[in-house]
Amino acid sequence: MDKNKIAPIAKPAESAQEADFRIVAEDAPVMLWLTNADGKVVFTNSKWKRFVGREKEAGQIGGDAWITALHPDDLEPCMTIFNEAFANHQHFDMEYRLRRADGQYRYVLDTGEPYINKEGKFAGFIGSSTDITDRKNHENQLRLSQLEMAQHNREMQFINELNSYLQVCRSLEETHAIIQHYAKKIFADYSGVLYLFDESHTTVDAVVHWGSDNRPPPPVISPDDCWGLRQGKLHSTDGTDNVIVCNHIQGRCEHGYVCAPVIAQGEMIGVLSVTLGDGRAAAVPRSPESVTRLIAMAADNLAMALVSLKLREALRSRSVRDPLTTLFNRRYLEETLTRELSNSQRNNQNLGIIMLDIDHFKQYNDTHGHDAGDFVLQEMAELLRSKLRLGDIACRYGGEELIMVMPGATKQITANRAELMRAAIAQHEFIYKGKPLDSVTASFGVSNYPADGESCESLIKSADEALYDAKAAGRNCVKLAE
Ligand code: GH3
Ligand code: MG
Ligand code: MG
Repeated sequence: MDKNKIAPIAKPAESAQEADFRIVAEDAPVMLWLTNADGKVVFTNSKWKRFVGREKEAGQIGGDAWITALHPDDLEPCMTIFNEAFANHQHFDMEYRLRRADGQYRYVLDTGEPYINKEGKFAGFIGSSTDITDRKNHENQLRLSQLEMAQHNREMQFINELNSYLQVCRSLEETHAIIQHYAKKIFADYSGVLYLFDESHTTVDAVVHWGSDNRPPPPVISPDDCWGLRQGKLHSTDGTDNVIVCNHIQGRCEHGYVCAPVIAQGEMIGVLSVTLGDGRAAAVPRSPESVTRLIAMAADNLAMALVSLKLREALRSRSVRDPLTTLFNRRYLEETLTRELSNSQRNNQNLGIIMLDIDHFKQYNDTHGHDAGDFVLQEMAELLRSKLRLGDIACRYGGEELIMVMPGATKQITANRAELMRAAIAQHEFIYKGKPLDSVTASFGVSNYPADGESCESLIKSADEALYDAKAAGRNCVKLAE
């Protein structure tokens, strides 16, 4: 069927047997064709001619009818197969697209057999053509759904892995890198951003964003900027013009986007916003519905994980922090001091302890009221915290007694720091409800490992004794353990 080989049929000299064959073949319920020993198409039956819409033409229509209806992209591969089969007189199968009478290209499977005549000589090919379009479509659909299934399994696996990491995160900060890492995997073909409400629940901050979108999303939005947040339910658009677009999207929605609110136990904690791409880059083409489902599922998983993390964080903080001053509590001090002390022992390092007690605080409360006293405690905690280095630990040991632990600090450094704190407190102006309160002073006792004790108890006892000395010496001063 080479272009060159195909020519209108020459008038054949037929035997009676061949004539019988033609009559049967003509009306056969399958598409049939025949070539001669030169590869010229000498016969196509009526079903074949009807298929390409040339049944009204008189006589044989030859190989040009096939070429005219063949999809141009399929000509070369077909000729390669046919020419090889023809050269070797071998059976062949080939698939190609053939334009049907209605103009639609259909997938056709040709099966050709070499035809040996009575003299035992190769006389050409006899073949059938079968429309396999429906089968092909089913195969394609099957292949696509297998791909989709594999993709879905991968995504579920990523979501499971993400959950497993989130469950062992200790802080919200820690989750950000993990969420970003998995968002890139789960939503590989899209850009997106996770917004979470701030503490006061007034603004919504972008904590994680990913994807190829060159314009980063706005870092802070108001809840009113997002229709998903406003409604408390999923908001999505396609790429058309006739859509309601959230303020925070700012033109990034050529192909549509989805905002899935992150809600757990009725509490709205943020929104997951994913900008859809044009889908061309997608490894597996997928329906907008399945993308939307995936985004909603990711948002639900994040909600559960983040809420339980917030709960854990709150519980943890409640168990180690004093609620009034947010300094660590006594229990935490005891645990941590044990650990820090054994570190110091192992590394042959000093460890400093500062204990302080507010002077005449009972009197202060009586004069200014308990609320003012509470305020002074809070503000003093903040003041002391600002004088500590990272790694130092400030605790509320008792009512108005605080302890600072300074790993690695020598006695001199600890004493200097205590003096700095003493001066800062004495100079500090406490403004309560717009009015200045009387100034406050505190007395300090300082002890140090290893000079003043080898155990937690003895170190605290030494600091307490030094503090007693400071009180005895007239208060508002620092005394070192002896
Ligand atoms: P000094 O230490 O100088 O000897 O005199 P003081 O009056 O401070 O005596 P002490 O340390 O024995 O008294 C502790 C007082 O601190 C008792 C209480 O009124 C006050 N106090 C303890 N905890 C709190 C608190 O949480 N809030 C307020 N407002 N006051 C507290
Ligand atoms: Mg006291
Ligand atoms: Mg006191």
